[in-house]
Amino acid sequence: MTQTEPKVSTTVDFSVDGKHHGHLSIPHSRNDSGWGAVHLPIVSIRSGDGPTLVLTGGNHGDEYEGPIALMKLARSLDVEEIDGQVIIIPALNYPAVLAGHRVSPLDGVNMNRAFPGRRDGTVSSMIAHFVYQKILPLADAVLDIHSGGKTMMFSPFACYHRLPDADLMEKAKQAVLAFAAPVSLELVELDAEGMLDTAVEELGKVFIGCELGGGGTTTTGTVSIAEVGVRNLLSHFKIINEPPQSLEDRGLPPTRMMHMPDSGCYVISDDAGIYESLIDLNSPVEVGDAVGQVHFPRNPELLPVVYRVERPGILVGRTHKALVESGDFLALIAAEM
Ligand SMILES: [Zn+2]
Repeated sequence: MTQTEPKVSTTVDFSVDGKHHGHLSIPHSRNDSGWGAVHLPIVSIRSGDGPTLVLTGGNHGDEYEGPIALMKLARSLDVEEIDGQVIIIPALNYPAVLAGHRVSPLDGVNMNRAFPGRRDGTVSSMIAHFVYQKILPLADAVLDIHSGGKTMMFSPFACYHRLPDADLMEKAKQAVLAFAAPVSLELVELDAEGMLDTAVEELGKVFIGCELGGGGTTTTGTVSIAEVGVRNLLSHFKIINEPPQSLEDRGLPPTRMMHMPDSGCYVISDDAGIYESLIDLNSPVEVGDAVGQVHFPRNPELLPVVYRVERPGILVGRTHKALVESGDFLALIAAEM
């Protein structure tokens, strides 16, 4: 074994046609299992020479639309109905998903800051390394399903990133429109280094992201957006031969195309206290409008600090937790394109 080969092994041969449920085996020696390993479920469904779509959920362990929609897809998608390959990882940060935590309880690592990973790193880092070395090279496109987690809540959106490569960005945008979420967002990340998104894009492949809700739970609506969205992407990449389901087909308004002109779209707390949202998701805002205020439970005589927006637009994301610290995310404003 060379020093670049992953220490992670897999029971699935991704070069073979058919439907294969298996796992990655990540070495994890510990007090209660000296020669132990983490077995992380992975599914390959392959037939013919069409494109390869990689679908991941559970990158953050407290976001559930991805694992639910992808487990359903893994059971329901027949090899006879596809041309190409679908690689499904319902729980990318598997230990975090089992614990219901955003980051792994084994090493405290946020999977979406662990890429491209290390062959001799912690469990999370070894998972990232295997995905980077062995899965992403097979992919034409990657969808990573997020949904806010316990601390955030979003107006359901699918997103692509503003990229220097105009051709790649246009391909990602068309895939996002095919996914058909209520909002389609051109996103600027606060902290892009180490993300799966960035790793995929730097390999010149199409990356589609989403944030489908949050609060550490799901709704019938957000799960449906994920389920329809993944099949729509299979249609978009011509892996399945069925027409995509538009929002209009489902009796919903057309997608709202939005963007984030700069990082001023994020409202971040400078205070620690109790956050009171003053407007609800999807509310329009003008420059200077208040989105919320932080109260000080130790000093009830103090007036709360009011947080105002620097950009006009629409509130598409907010903190879900009320008890905030300095540096915490409070709100995300996006503008219609
Ligand atoms: Zn997430």
